[in-house]
Amino acid sequence: MTELNNELIRHSAADLAAKLATREVTAVEVTQAHLDRIALVDGQVNAFLHVNTEEALAVAAEVDAARAAGGSAAEELHALAGVPIAVKDLIVTIGQPTTAGSKILEGWHSPYDATVVKKLRAAKMPILGKTNLDEFAMGSSTEHSAYGPTRNPWDLDRIPGGSGGGSAAAVAAFEAPLALGTDTGGSIRQPGAVTGTVGVKPTYGAVSRYGAIAMASSLDQIGPVSRTVLDSALLQEVIGGHDPFDSTSLTDPFNDLVAAARVGNVAGMKIGIVKELHGEGYQAGVENRFNESLQLLKDAGAEIVEVSCPNLKYALGAYYLIMPSEVSSNLAKFDGVRFGMRVLPKDGPMTIERVMGATRAAGFGDEVKRRIILGTYALSAGYYDAYYGSAQKVRTLIQRDFDAAFAKADVLISPTAPTTAFKLGEKLDDPLAMYLNDVATIPANLAGIPGLSLPGGLADEDGLPVGIQLLAPARQDARLYRVGAVLESMLEEKWGGPMLAQAPELSSASTTAGGSN
Ligand code: GLN
Repeated sequence: MTELNNELIRHSAADLAAKLATREVTAVEVTQAHLDRIALVDGQVNAFLHVNTEEALAVAAEVDAARAAGGSAAEELHALAGVPIAVKDLIVTIGQPTTAGSKILEGWHSPYDATVVKKLRAAKMPILGKTNLDEFAMGSSTEHSAYGPTRNPWDLDRIPGGSGGGSAAAVAAFEAPLALGTDTGGSIRQPGAVTGTVGVKPTYGAVSRYGAIAMASSLDQIGPVSRTVLDSALLQEVIGGHDPFDSTSLTDPFNDLVAAARVGNVAGMKIGIVKELHGEGYQAGVENRFNESLQLLKDAGAEIVEVSCPNLKYALGAYYLIMPSEVSSNLAKFDGVRFGMRVLPKDGPMTIERVMGATRAAGFGDEVKRRIILGTYALSAGYYDAYYGSAQKVRTLIQRDFDAAFAKADVLISPTAPTTAFKLGEKLDDPLAMYLNDVATIPANLAGIPGLSLPGGLADEDGLPVGIQLLAPARQDARLYRVGAVLESMLEEKWGGPMLAQAPELSSASTTAGGSN
């Protein structure tokens, strides 16, 4: 890799956009630099399930041609035109496979683009490829992918979080300046925390879910993954907005996000520490970095208050009833008839039920099966009221807790995850330990409110990234960017530059990661 390329991959999306606009660099150079980086390091990281070389370069060439032509062709280009992006492989794309990290969709191609992908194409952002994930986005470590785990660029023996570990690792390893993720219980924010990147779950309905393969529809949300707060704001403005193809899509424009990230001012704001979202069960180094961030926000003129959301202690329980219930319904369509894989029973009658059974037995992994069984049970007659019904009541109580908290604070703050990245394999056989990684992120999905995770420093005991989470009331996504930008700039001043500059250099040395590009 040349010096120039090595430098290009380290720029933020905002910086790349500026360099492209002044024609200091071309979109082909920028895209090629990232493709070279993927070729160099993805054998170790395994962030990508598919690399979209030709199409990405073709889109980049179109951007360069429009800029060279000048006049209206150049003026009409979107600010992010030519800035490449990676897309989580739960989001459907024409011209590239979509696997959802599952064997059941191996080799499947979508006949349509997700709305967010259409928007990326309209903005002429080259799509570098599709990123790895836990199967159907179920997991917190990306170890439940049918295509091998993704590894954390900070330590290749550790998990990159999940389910969107591929998107977070791609951005952390400088393989892409931006990525799309999906967040049902934390799958954008928790990988962001453990890889030292920024991840945002927008307000439910702020970004269309059309074309995101549904996990739990009332919780799912597509959102940005980036290295800076401003970059996430830029990306959310590209992908957001009303979509008639998603019946839960909001009509609010959400076009004040970039401005909020650029202003970044917390003077006079009230920031609420959620009593239930830190302390016991959180790693000491995580708590230390959290307290440091609180002090910085105080220094910047914010007032720190303490709030309590007593029903959050039931959030994980409610989530692990509501989510699998919706999963059991959403995944019924993978039946060996309509999509992807079909397995015929070895012997006996060839009925449709038996084909479905054989296909689902072979195509789904253990975690997916576990959740389908759990959800089917929770929804069954006789148990529906006791489990699903009660969980929905708890969901309402949590929403009310947040309403009360936001009467006292403009924004809430907590660590994003209770620990730093754990070792691959460490929690794979213990589903409950795995589920606990999401205690701090799940409440936002249950309440439909927006959440942002940004790097808060490295934990004292292991030198690994810690994430700080900000939460705002529904529709107030701009507040997250405003507060996030201030905290980010104060932290970077303290570190003398971006936190990712401290990550170990990756080389092309081979490992056992087993990338399948
Ligand atoms: N880790 C959580 C789960 O396993 C969240 C997943 C997600 O947000 N897609 O359900």
